[in-house]
Amino acid sequence: MSSSTLNVLLAQPRGFCAGVTRAIDIVERALELYGAPIYVRHEIVHNKRVVETLKAKGVIFVEELDEIPEGEVAIFSAHGVSDAVEKEALSRGLPVIDATCPLVTKVHKEGGRYAVKGAHVVLIGHAGHPEVEGTMGRIPGGVHLVTRPADVEKLEIPKGAEVAYITQTTLSIDDTRGVIEALKSRFPMIQGPDVRDICYATQNRQTAVRKLAARSDLILVVGAKNSSNSNRLREIGLELGKTSHLIDDATDLDPAWLEGISTVGITAGASAPDVLIDELLAKLECLRPIELKVLDGVEENVSFKMPEHFPDAPLHKKKA
Ligand code: SF4
Repeated sequence: MSSSTLNVLLAQPRGFCAGVTRAIDIVERALELYGAPIYVRHEIVHNKRVVETLKAKGVIFVEELDEIPEGEVAIFSAHGVSDAVEKEALSRGLPVIDATCPLVTKVHKEGGRYAVKGAHVVLIGHAGHPEVEGTMGRIPGGVHLVTRPADVEKLEIPKGAEVAYITQTTLSIDDTRGVIEALKSRFPMIQGPDVRDICYATQNRQTAVRKLAARSDLILVVGAKNSSNSNRLREIGLELGKTSHLIDDATDLDPAWLEGISTVGITAGASAPDVLIDELLAKLECLRPIELKVLDGVEENVSFKMPEHFPDAPLHKKKA
């Protein structure tokens, strides 16, 4: 392994977005208010370290509500849930705290408005992603899911029908552009959101990784394999011709990747905590002397309000 200095560039912005920060704060607040255990439906955000840290504090993650015992506090993850899940929680009398990102809720509302006006609603997104499942279950009458431009021609929507589209918040701008063009070409009168639903954090991180790729020989994206926005960051690095790896944490770094590399660019998905980047930098420093620089970029100052009301503590958790 060469001992020449490795230039390390950090993308700006990178890592936590306002929706992720809020969701984690909600879980922490629930732990303070009610004590452990607290149940969270699905990973609160897609990151193993975040999940493990909360588990150690007494949070229990479940996939479905029927895994939550009667009367326990249930939190919905940042990705949002369908109407059916919300109704099930209500019918079981579970005290619920909804940590859905407000930008996801905005998409639910937009889709609902189009559906109520009688439009066929097309959702641009990836099948199976929890945000997409939640959004699909929020639109009265259902939605048509498309992922690629080629999916548009297969849509079973009658000629002359009213059509509208909404999008998953964490896709790449380029992915949606192609699909939106195909939709507009087949349905010239299609309605869509004023500003595309790709959220500010996704856009900013994608712009930053483009800048990073222009100056780096290798891109490392810190983020979970099931994190949609992290995957998009890696894909953008690849599209720009740079070897790009998506890594959970420093233990995934293969020293062989650094052979012949003089500049490595690092970014992190919206659900990856800063500590993972710190650990990666420490590992790089063990392998080569490093020179660290943060690239110029957008300074984000977005924050989302916490829910106004937390439910009363269940009886068995009320302090005497
Ligand atoms: S990436 Fe965007 S939509 Fe997703 S949680 Fe963060 S702010 Fe909300």
